[in-house]
Amino acid sequence: MYSDFAARLATTMWPDFDQTPERSTETPEITDVSTVVVDGNFPWTIVTLETDAGVTGIGEAYPSPGVHEVITDYLQPVLRGENPLDVERLYHLMRESLSGRGSQQGMGTIAISGVELALWDAAGKILEQPVYQLLGGKMREEVRLYADCHAGEGMVEAALDEQPTEAYEAAAYANAARSAVDDGFEIVKFDLDVPSGREIDTLARHFDGPEIEHKRALVEAVTDEVGDEAEVAVDLHWNFSVEAAEKLCRALEPYDLAWVEDPIPPENADAMAELNRSVSQALLTGENCYGRHGFRDLLEQQAVSFVAPDIPKTGGIAETKKIGELADTYYTTLTPHNVGSPVATMAGVHVGATVPNFLALEYHARDVPWWDDLVDSDEPLIQNGRITVPDEPGLGIELDWDVVEEHRKT
Ligand SMILES: [Mg+2]
Repeated sequence: MYSDFAARLATTMWPDFDQTPERSTETPEITDVSTVVVDGNFPWTIVTLETDAGVTGIGEAYPSPGVHEVITDYLQPVLRGENPLDVERLYHLMRESLSGRGSQQGMGTIAISGVELALWDAAGKILEQPVYQLLGGKMREEVRLYADCHAGEGMVEAALDEQPTEAYEAAAYANAARSAVDDGFEIVKFDLDVPSGREIDTLARHFDGPEIEHKRALVEAVTDEVGDEAEVAVDLHWNFSVEAAEKLCRALEPYDLAWVEDPIPPENADAMAELNRSVSQALLTGENCYGRHGFRDLLEQQAVSFVAPDIPKTGGIAETKKIGELADTYYTTLTPHNVGSPVATMAGVHVGATVPNFLALEYHARDVPWWDDLVDSDEPLIQNGRITVPDEPGLGIELDWDVVEEHRKT
């Protein structure tokens, strides 16, 4: 009724006013959605979203079995014919379409996240604007990355090898830290839940004295090498009890760590808050948390100092920005988790450019020499530990599809 009144008023005041605005014949439509898996240090799941507007949106879903099927069998039929500019409406449409089948957490949310990234890229390309502009504009010109470091042959081989290897010795950790800092990274992170060479029950969530001494020596080697030049963080992958984490944190007090990541699992915010109050280090969690709801209890209890949602897992670009803004109301800092290809990394750059309380985005592919080759550019994406926020439309990069094909897994 109001709109009828408004239209009558408009035609009275402006006789040329057309009260039935014509639906543009150029409204873009989604024509197809699919995935390509690249065999990186994780199976990087690239999402392609075709439109009839002459652009293809590129996204990335967190490496997860079943994501291809969810995207092609469930989401693609829902999205076909929809307007790719309606990014947030389509996010909710996808969630509704998978309601009861994982749209709150897990594989369904991961698939939705991957498509959401591709929608932002497509929308930016259609509107000829960078994603950060569509998100409200940038507040920094470049985005800082921190280096996840693995000393030795790489995480998977080391994890499968039950024998102690050089990978977990202090000297190897120091060398890896030196290399990352020399490349310009100002924050380096190391796994501490690594074999010490002793037989231990890894399910017991316990550290005895020799185990703590092994971890302490690794941290000491890294901070001796780069502590004056960079911040050092450690990751424990949810493996320990509150008591064991407290003991380890006490032993690591002299080393002024940037943060201790996932010392205990994130689901029990009470336990995380208890640990946070009892140790001097800043705690970080979030790579296994989904959406704002996944962070609400942790933030309400001031249980961590840093939240680390994984953008292609937690819900995508807009949801991560909202998590960051929610975190800011608790004066908590956003440090997104990222194990992805340049596509997921650029999603992190646009989030990092637009969220005030953003510190740094993870970079996890120092062991993949062709990571940069995936991008159709002569310049390396990461320079001096930073990525310049791009002004090109969409996410701001184009993939080199020949290189993608060369490393294609499925
Ligand atoms: Mg982690």
